[in-house]
Amino acid sequence: MGLIAIENVRFFAHHGVYEEEKICGNEFEVNVYVEVDLDSSTRMEDLSQTLNYETIFLCCKKVMGQPQDLLETVCIDLVKSLKAHFPALRSIKVNIRKFNPMPGERVGSSFIEIEENFKSKCSACGNSFSCYKDNTCWCFDQELSEETRKVLKDKYKGCLCPECLKQFTVKK
Ligand SMILES: [Zn+2]
Ligand SMILES: [Zn+2]
Repeated sequence: MGLIAIENVRFFAHHGVYEEEKICGNEFEVNVYVEVDLDSSTRMEDLSQTLNYETIFLCCKKVMGQPQDLLETVCIDLVKSLKAHFPALRSIKVNIRKFNPMPGERVGSSFIEIEENFKSKCSACGNSFSCYKDNTCWCFDQELSEETRKVLKDKYKGCLCPECLKQFTVKK
């Protein structure tokens, strides 16, 4: 396993419920940690192809630039954005800190943290893979026909890796 992170990334953004925050903005700090599968055969060049902190930064920048009332929403959007950009992460941890969260009071900062784990084992071949609990996995793929879902449910206890799932590409 390998961990790639960017820490203490500062943004000036306009998230918040108070009118004052929406207009004047606030200082925020973002930390992102993503876990990937690495073995001795993984070359650093390959790794930076699949995962690099510039892309992680750009995900942060885009999400932080879209004002939201709640920091929770920002955090959830960032996790979604990272999942969309990187297909096989083992886990993600994101935390977003807001400085001076209560206008007029002396509260240093508040933060929201989300941690998600995607480690799964294929019920057919036994290989480990990342299940994002979305349409890359049969258990959550709403595109699959009812019939196919039933067949899979009867045959397998849990998730199937993308390779094995390819054998069941009978979609609606
Ligand atoms: Zn499999
Ligand atoms: Zn799954």
